[in-house]
Amino acid sequence: MEELRYIPNIPDTDKKRIVVVGSGFAGLKFVRSMLRKNFQIVLLDKNNFHQFQPLLYQVATAGLEPSAISFPLRKILQNEQHIHFRIADVQAVKSELKEIETDIGTLKYDYLVLAMGASTNFYGQKKIEQTALSMKSAADAILIRNTILENFELALLQDTPEKAAKYLNIVLVGGGPTGVELAGAVAEMKKYIFPKDYPELDMSKMRIVLYQGSGSLLAGMSSKASARATRYLKNLGVEVNLDTRVLDYDGGCLKLSDGTTISSKTVIWAAGVIANQIDGISVSSMNPQQRIMVDRQNRAYGYHDIFAIGDLSLMKTPKYPHGHPQVAQVAIQQAKTLAGNLIRIKRNASLKSKDFEYRDKGSLATIGRNLAVADLPFVKLSGFLAWILWSFVHLFMIVGVKNRILIFMNWSWNYFTYDQSLRLLIRHKPSIINRSGSDPFCEIKLDEINTEVDVESV
Ligand SMILES: Cc1cc2nc3c(=O)[nH]c(=O)nc-3n(C[C@H](O)[C@H](O)[C@H](O)COP(=O)(O)OP(=O)(O)OC[C@H]3O[C@@H](n4cnc5c(N)ncnc54)[C@H](O)[C@@H]3O)c2cc1C
Repeated sequence: MEELRYIPNIPDTDKKRIVVVGSGFAGLKFVRSMLRKNFQIVLLDKNNFHQFQPLLYQVATAGLEPSAISFPLRKILQNEQHIHFRIADVQAVKSELKEIETDIGTLKYDYLVLAMGASTNFYGQKKIEQTALSMKSAADAILIRNTILENFELALLQDTPEKAAKYLNIVLVGGGPTGVELAGAVAEMKKYIFPKDYPELDMSKMRIVLYQGSGSLLAGMSSKASARATRYLKNLGVEVNLDTRVLDYDGGCLKLSDGTTISSKTVIWAAGVIANQIDGISVSSMNPQQRIMVDRQNRAYGYHDIFAIGDLSLMKTPKYPHGHPQVAQVAIQQAKTLAGNLIRIKRNASLKSKDFEYRDKGSLATIGRNLAVADLPFVKLSGFLAWILWSFVHLFMIVGVKNRILIFMNWSWNYFTYDQSLRLLIRHKPSIINRSGSDPFCEIKLDEINTEVDVESV
């Protein structure tokens, strides 16, 4: 039998050990709320940085470098004697032993806080998963940036505008904030950047197409915000298709539920998320989207010492009978409440824990230069005012003063020059993409297509 290997250099102390898995909005806020509170904290994440997902779309469209929206965890945790960080992929929980298993070894916990977030949901469509792009990490965003730039270079090598169109067209699947913000940013590139960078290409042949399975964009926002966002996108030249589901994609051609097809080498899938899972959590504690069901104190159903916060968790309350939206504010507020409860329990075990209640501070989405929509508790804004608000809120939320300054400078530069200066095609190896342009061109046979995908908003 293989010997059990405990992760070294994490001492057993007289302090209760809290193991936190994930350093996104939820995990990081939790750890920061627990600084110097007389616990031993072990933070585990696959990456050694925290990333600000709401601005990933600007990395994907060459507006920001990934470093501007990422923050090294070790820097945040400097001088914290009782906090240990390890890069680790957490794979399983053994609740009966109060242990977790990771790719770097096993670790005991007194309390376990799961904050692993969610991944893109392809609804079991393997072919689409292999051929379409998604945007959940800085690496995904860089891949989108590279794919767009590479395809434009390939478009130049085609001998007819029809063949070139396949490399120019950009398709977005999912009309939530991710799809809408990306569509707007790409449309602005088409307007201000591509004609200058690629004067030999006929930009009128480039289509930016957004498909949404339901009848409106930004389903989590008001109907006014949704209507405005649709109008702004259309004014920017985006083809918005509502009530249209993607049936299949072969890497070159997309088949839609309205019977149409579109050829595109750049399809970005932003049509839903599924919670990141680890083994050992009982299936009866999860909903069909793998979210861990928790009580009002974020304690996982059926467990005493395991908590789940953020996108991974599903808490039903009278105000949110179907659970909270998977957004950053919910993750941050749950983390704060849980930290307060654990500190309270430590001080006096008989103290009652506080129930979580979400304070919705509003929702924002930007569509482009001077264009955004904002649903605030007492007022709905759109256009320039909403855009200014969006910019300040995002600058305020970014971790790190240097990142804030960097982003502010980048935005100012882009705003006044109408130019994003980061259109670099940085590749690990030369591309092995087919440069002949001879892929079958929208030749999907209809009888090969038999699955349907319900497109939801991210
Ligand atoms: C493109 C995009 C745009 C968005 N825009 C907005 C927006 O404008 N406003 C808003 O409020 N919300 C937005 N969201 C949603 C918001 O980012 C999430 O709600 C939020 O990140 C959830 O925080 P979290 O801590 O639960 O998960 P995450 O922030 O996703 O963090 C999860 C962490 O867990 C780690 N992890 C996962 N699995 C493992 C494992 N097995 N082992 C170790 N570590 C693991 C990951 O590396 C990651 O660091 C957006 C999301 C995306 C993808």
